[in-house]
Amino acid sequence: MPTRIYILRFPKETSNEPVIFQLVKQYDVEFNILKADILPQREGVMILELKGAKDKVNTGLAYLKSFGVKVQRLAAAINRDDKKCFQCGACTGICPVGALYIKRPGMEVLFDPDKCTGCSLCVSICPVRAMEVSPITETFAEAEEKIIT
Ligand code: SF4
Ligand code: SF4
Repeated sequence: MPTRIYILRFPKETSNEPVIFQLVKQYDVEFNILKADILPQREGVMILELKGAKDKVNTGLAYLKSFGVKVQRLAAAINRDDKKCFQCGACTGICPVGALYIKRPGMEVLFDPDKCTGCSLCVSICPVRAMEVSPITETFAEAEEKIIT
């Protein structure tokens, strides 16, 4: 099952609500809190890893949004530097979700950021470091800034 990382920004009205508990209970998704800054009666930010079937994760995220929670995929921070990539194809064999793949018949190596889970397996295998993956290394303040702007 795919794993994806999200940044959630909670309005202060939800700070006392068990919304993550309900997310797991109602929508059958697994979660791992990578970082959280949530205090009573204050806006809060959480970096959350979610694992589950795509439709269940999407329905669960819609549930969070219904509480006014702002949701952003952290995978948006993952990029391929197309100037560095020389289309060797080495990354396509290691990507577990097919986010890096070969398009036939032209044999072009493409990157689909919507499929990417941020696992970073492609970073070390790429001989020219064309994959730039920085979901967990960025600071919490930078992640929060991304939501606000
Ligand atoms: S980080 Fe690289 S290997 Fe991992 S899912 Fe994204 S593209 Fe694929
Ligand atoms: S391993 Fe690097 S250079 Fe080769 S296709 Fe993948 S991103 Fe491009």
